[in-house]
Amino acid sequence: MHYKNFKTVVYIPALTASTITPDKLESDYEFIEKYIGLDKVYLETHRDGIEVAKEKLLMIKSFLEGKGVTVSGGITTVLPDIEGSIPGKRRLFNTVCYTDPAMRNRIKKISEYAAGLFDEIILDDFFFTNCTCSSCIRQKGNRDWVSFRRDLMNDVSSNLIVKPAKTVNPNVRMVVKYPNWRESYHYTGYLPKDQQDIFDATYTGTETRSPKYADQHLPEYLSYSLVRYVENAWPGRNGGGWFDTYQCWSADRYLEQMYLTAFAKAKELMFFQWSDLINNYFAGGAGIQLNLIDRLLDGTGNPTGIPVYIPYESSGENHLEMRLGMLGIPLDPTPVFPRNKKLALFTESSASDSDIVIKLKEFVETGGDAVITTGLMRQLQAELKQTGLTEASVTSRKINVTRYQITDDLAGYTDDVKSVVFPEIVHGNNASWSLINGGEGDYHTTLLLQSNYGKGRLFILSIPDNPSDIYRIPNQITDEFKRIISPDEYISGSDLSMFTYDDGSMIVYRYVKNNQRPARISLFTTKDVKCLRDVISGEIFEISDHYFLENREKKRYSVTDIPLVPGVIRKFKWEY
Ligand SMILES: [Zn+2]
Repeated sequence: MHYKNFKTVVYIPALTASTITPDKLESDYEFIEKYIGLDKVYLETHRDGIEVAKEKLLMIKSFLEGKGVTVSGGITTVLPDIEGSIPGKRRLFNTVCYTDPAMRNRIKKISEYAAGLFDEIILDDFFFTNCTCSSCIRQKGNRDWVSFRRDLMNDVSSNLIVKPAKTVNPNVRMVVKYPNWRESYHYTGYLPKDQQDIFDATYTGTETRSPKYADQHLPEYLSYSLVRYVENAWPGRNGGGWFDTYQCWSADRYLEQMYLTAFAKAKELMFFQWSDLINNYFAGGAGIQLNLIDRLLDGTGNPTGIPVYIPYESSGENHLEMRLGMLGIPLDPTPVFPRNKKLALFTESSASDSDIVIKLKEFVETGGDAVITTGLMRQLQAELKQTGLTEASVTSRKINVTRYQITDDLAGYTDDVKSVVFPEIVHGNNASWSLINGGEGDYHTTLLLQSNYGKGRLFILSIPDNPSDIYRIPNQITDEFKRIISPDEYISGSDLSMFTYDDGSMIVYRYVKNNQRPARISLFTTKDVKCLRDVISGEIFEISDHYFLENREKKRYSVTDIPLVPGVIRKFKWEY
């Protein structure tokens, strides 16, 4: 291994594998070894009709193994129209029609072929189906597409992929990689809930590329939070995180994917793919930064964060939690209801759990603080009213907000700022209490509302119509929200993330975006600390006391200002 905290891994797709010469393989290897360091390769046997000959695969495998590189197999399950397959299908990306007998048979053979050569095989993230041909429509019958594809891909996973592979090679470890579009898995038959009983391990797509323009519109934080989600879904069985060079228009954007994947403690960092790296200056930057992040991760424990409940097969307010992660709030998305936690966040996706209201009631009544968004309120408000958790509701009206007010703070006013459109929340005065107001003219709505219930509290957080407008809310206002959702410790500002670990260390990263420049950022804690230390440089930051009002009582925080330069990673620890 080249690094202590992760393996560096490269994928060789079928086209490269089938055309590469021994000389090119050697010079490519030398480049990758020099700049990144190569621990392991996934060598693809099949992609879109390209079947790599056995002699070619063995040539590459034996060369790399001779260099001490581990070699596993890879399969991309896409097929062109093949002999005997039913013509006239409309398929996106040539993903397979799994009701077509000829295609089913071919996929089974592809799995058997790879299992005869490798003891570990990963499926690239085309292992789904979007086929709507007449055969698929007929077999779907009265089911909806989600139910039909769930049944179909359960069958395919077991009977065409894993069982045939294990019959050929009982030792083969079968790995399913999940794509970066979690909110859509269920529409195409990706089944992290069911497939954990079929596959040995999983892998996570962390390619966030260009958030503004990429099809999946993914915030940068996904490279961290999706690894955490998949790890929480399959504890101990997430093999790694996988990113690529596509739509990365700067080395910083490319490397941010790598940093966040590593900060989430992915065991392998997969560089997709071999030929994209050759003579690419991104690889040089990666090599330098891999040494740094390896040092940064030394001694860090397990990642910690505020649980966000995202059930399996759910969608709604997609990626919202990632945007909150880019306000510096450490988050830990999970498909498991965070029953025993002190505080948790629930977005519209939580509504996919049909028992969510019962679970929320129990969570709050027994002392939990639940923060729910206006998107979730819209889905649940009739039921929430009935259970008595809150009398508040979200109306269909929108409020233009150019003025904010922290209600308990004599100095908590921010006027004449860029307008952001929020949904209107109405509530019973003094039945619940607004902590933050926002408005224009002589009208306002609550943006953060507290309702007490039993031993706990329900907070309703208003989300702008355009979720990206979260970054336009003034820091003074988002800080007030941070004191609720992250009451012991928080970082001010936006377009930055804080990654926290159970050994007490904090990695802070300010993204290279929006023409950001260096700035001093305040870090607050209620812990009894002496100072803050930069773990790498040893620099010490003095603290001072700062008081905020909470429920009309003064609450003391220790605060320190740290200079953060975009693109520069820092690691801190409080000294006691
Ligand atoms: Zn079909």
